[in-house]
Amino acid sequence: MLRQLVNIDGLTNLANRRYFDVCLENEIKRNRRTNRYFSLILGDIDFFKLYNDHFGHLKGDECLKVVAGVIKNKSGRPGDLPARYGGEEFAVILPDTDIIGSKNVAESIRLRVQGLKLPHPASPTADTVSISLGVASFPPADTTAFTGKDIILRADKALYKAKSLGRNRIVHFFDY
Ligand code: GH3
Ligand code: MG
Ligand code: MG
Repeated sequence: MLRQLVNIDGLTNLANRRYFDVCLENEIKRNRRTNRYFSLILGDIDFFKLYNDHFGHLKGDECLKVVAGVIKNKSGRPGDLPARYGGEEFAVILPDTDIIGSKNVAESIRLRVQGLKLPHPASPTADTVSISLGVASFPPADTTAFTGKDIILRADKALYKAKSLGRNRIVHFFDY
């Protein structure tokens, strides 16, 4: 039970940042042996500060829980690890998953969040809550060289691109 408390985020019940960091390194090591594609998704709710400003932090927390449920629901393969990366930022570790597969997971998260139709009157780009996602993958040949930091950096760059292109979209690092 103690181990659970240390590894699980209290609000969303997803893995917390600490557990995510440990898992990422472990999964990369494992992937070096399996020699398969390895992918990571970073998702960030669009204009969430404005959501809090409009509805208050309690409603903001409720929104985070619902979005976390979507992230968990859409990353259900054995080995997948959905996590709360930061405040309104989520991460999904996808071992043995290639570019097309990881983009599919990210897009299905995006579509499901859009489908929730949670009102977001303060958002400059949409009427409802949306999420932007950055995706990065390392091909099997590269798995010996890359670190957790490398793949986070790439997914983060892709996420930044998704934000700057207008939000509510996914961008894969290899597509720009
Ligand atoms: P962007 O579309 O560029 O991502 O805009 P943003 O407003 O989502 O980005 P920013 O990083 O400026 O704001 C994140 C906000 O998320 C800040 C804070 O109000 C909110 N937030 C972070 N953690 C929590 C939390 O645990 N609960 C609630 N209710 N809000 C949180
Ligand atoms: Mg953020
Ligand atoms: Mg945000």
